Order: sequence, then C-alpha cells, then structure tokens
Amino acid sequence: MKVLLAAALSVPLLASAHKAILPRQATTTPVPTPSPPISQGLPSGSALTPPATGSTLPSVSFSLAATNPTAIPVSLISSGTLTTATIPLTTIQPAGAVPTYIPGAPPLPDLSTVLPSDYPPLDKPPPIDHPLVKQWVAEVLASGIDIPNITVTVLGGCPANPEAAADQSRCWWTCGGCVDDSDITTCPDKLTWGLTHDDGPAPYTPNLLQYLSAAKLSTTFFNVGSRVISYPNTLRDAYMAGNQIAVHTWSHPQMTTLTNEEIIAELGWTRKVIKDVLGVTPLYWRPPYGDIDNRVRAISKAMNLIPVMWTRLSPTVTFDTGDFNVAGGTNSVSQVLSNWQNIISNASTINTGFIVLEHDLFLQTVEIATGYILPAALANNPPLKITPVIDCLHKPWNQAYLETNDNKTNPIPNPNEGKVVINGTNGGGAQAGGGSGSGSGSGSGNSNQSGGAVPSGVVHSGLLAIAGSVALALFAFLA
Ligand SMILES: [Zn+2]
Repeated sequence: MKVLLAAALSVPLLASAHKAILPRQATTTPVPTPSPPISQGLPSGSALTPPATGSTLPSVSFSLAATNPTAIPVSLISSGTLTTATIPLTTIQPAGAVPTYIPGAPPLPDLSTVLPSDYPPLDKPPPIDHPLVKQWVAEVLASGIDIPNITVTVLGGCPANPEAAADQSRCWWTCGGCVDDSDITTCPDKLTWGLTHDDGPAPYTPNLLQYLSAAKLSTTFFNVGSRVISYPNTLRDAYMAGNQIAVHTWSHPQMTTLTNEEIIAELGWTRKVIKDVLGVTPLYWRPPYGDIDNRVRAISKAMNLIPVMWTRLSPTVTFDTGDFNVAGGTNSVSQVLSNWQNIISNASTINTGFIVLEHDLFLQTVEIATGYILPAALANNPPLKITPVIDCLHKPWNQAYLETNDNKTNPIPNPNEGKVVINGTNGGGAQAGGGSGSGSGSGSGNSNQSGGAVPSGVVHSGLLAIAGSVALALFAFLA
C-alpha cells in the first residue's frame, strides 16, 4: 500500500421543538426500520430487518451532569411512540448560496435538476451494471492502489466467518477491532469529542440541527445516499449551518459482505448524490456497523474516502451509545444514558480525544441527543471541546471535500477521480471475471467468494480501455 493520507454553556430551550408542526419535506419516503443491536456484532439478517419488539427492558441507573429542561422524559421515549413533532427547516437554502466557512466552496447547485429517478432505488444495493458504476470501477482500477484479494464475508459477523475472523492480515475491525493507520478512531487532543451522527438526513434531523445551532455546536453527519435524495433540503441546511457532511453508503450494508463492484456502487452513488445536492464531494466516510477490512479500506482509499470509526478501548469498551436500538425496542433509554455515562468516564481517562457512535435517523435518537447526551456533555467537568471530526483533527475545512481540497498541501490517493475515460459503449470490463457469483448487485453479495471483478494487485489494463493521455499521466504519478 502506498503512503496513506495523514491521516459550560447554558442549555438551550427548545420549546418550539414540541409544537405540532407538520414536516415540510416529503413524507412518502420510508425511513428504514431499526436493525438488531450493533453492540452485539453484526446483525444476522438484513440491515433493514426490524427486530422483535415489545419486550420489557430493565431500567438501568444513570447520572448525568445536566439535562435539557425541555427534554422528553426518559419514560416517554420508547419504541413505537411519537412524542415529538418534526420541525420545519429554518431556511430552504437557495441555489447559488455559498458556505463562507469553507474556503473555495462552490455555490449550492440548482436542486430542481436533482431527480430521484436518476438515482438507484432507495435502500437497495445499487445495480453494478450502471454506466456510472463502471466509470467508478475504472477509476478505482486506475488508482494503482492494491486491492487485497481476500474473501467476501457472509452475513452473521464473526461467528459466521471463523476463518476470516482469525485472519489477522485482513485487519477486520468487526472481529477484534483491528485498525489501520488510515482509520480515524479518535481526536488527537484529550477531552475533545469529534461529534458524529449517522444515517440521516431524516425527518427529525431538523430538530437536532435546531439544538446544535442554539448550543453553537456542529457535528459530522455520515449520510445515507437514499436519505439524501429523500431529504436534500435538510442536508443543505446542515451543510450551510457549518456541519461536516460525509458518506455512509447508499443502502447501509455490511461492506465486507459485498463484492468490490458492490462496494464501489454503494460509495459512488452516495458521493454523487451529496455532490449533486451540495456541490462538494466528501473526503470522509464511515462504514455501517464499522464493518471494514483491508479490502474495503483499499477501495475506499481509491475513491478518496477516509474511514472514520468510533473509539474502541477493548472488545467490551466501545464508544457506542447503543442509541440506534431504542427505536426497535431492543435497548432502553436508560441503558443508552448509562452507556453514555461510561463513555464520558472512560474519555476522561485516556490521553486522546474520542469519537462516539450516535444517530439522527430516529425520533428517539434525536430526543436522547438533544434532551440528555449533549446537555450533559456541555455541562461536563472537566469541560469538553465538542467539534466536527474535521475540526478535531486540526484540519482546515477545505480538506473535508474533494472540490475544495488543496492537492498540493493535502494530496489525495487517487487524483484520477473523475478523469478516467472509458473507451466504448459498454463501459469496459467491470463485470468480467473475478468469480463474482451474484454479479447482479441485488444485495446477495453474501456468498463466500473472492472480492469480485475488480482485480487485486496492479491495474489490469486488459479489462479497461483508459484513454491514453490519462493513463500516461496516471503511471507518471504512480512512478
Ligand atoms: Zn449507520
């Protein structure tokens, strides 16, 4: 592998959050039902399979430094209840608006040209035979980055994949917490929290945005492409308000279960829809469930995406609030708040900052964040510095996005992104060979086969017809 990228405020009152205001944006778009518990490893079924609900969960004791006076009582936050109305966006960001906090940022595009029909079906693995996916596959191949030829895992996590789990060389985070130098897992400065929220934009994201704005906080959002095309104005509002926007895949799969082409399609479509909505392409991403190994890392690197995980001190001490599982009824609010108490306690004992797993997908996760976790964090003693990940890494904002990045001071791994030209009408040989059994992009990428049609090792020029000038520039760069 080549050298990797260098890698006590007052609590705002949110009375308006509880008014019965209808959401402004389309309500016909589904929000996925919750997955089984993340903290127990990879779910055994589909990421979108609802868990069993209705169980009575035990109450767990917790003690917080502060809570929001307008917080929904813990006893009222539970699965299946809707205690808070969504709130409308404060502003619909117009085309041409420019985020002045990002040096060199382009103006917001015209949303009227961003049509859902031009994107893959929601919450399904995107087909790999689309010309754009073939283009992205060609760009990955042209990167010259070595993609390890290791087996695709099967659904079910570590117990279902004993050989892969034991194979240290693949550095599979899911089984053992292996991290690569390129993975962002903490913030460098002690007591600094790189705030993150995953799986939106969603109907209750504006509620979180309102709290963040009132508290003068901003976060890093890891966005699902299927939600971005459903709630583009929410994404624009989050972006213009000073939040970092990053990639979290199109359909939220376990990435190590996908073929190379399926991984590229998931990341590529999410990057594209964010670019189409904001005008910028994120340079950071988070794998759903933290499911990453060296094959997934290499592909994401070739797509100029840096993985951001969450802090993990040991197999049993991870900075995961477990908030995702409240909506599905498999975790209690009191357990989440107890988890948070443990996280903040552990954070004060380590010499670095930290990153925590939280979500803005569900009403419950937003209520917990705005009512409890963030107010407690703001009142913490010793005080915490709470910033988006790009800030906590001491990186300038222009390095959060491809279009604003200065490639001289912050060279990206694959400068050929968007420059590879496919000769011919079939988009090259992206589907050829490789032993990929599914080849359909239908989400069945759970067969235990090699990584797919994108070959490991050097660029296989026989598979592709890259325009000569670009190829020359490429090999000059790689030399
Ligand atoms: Zn997620």
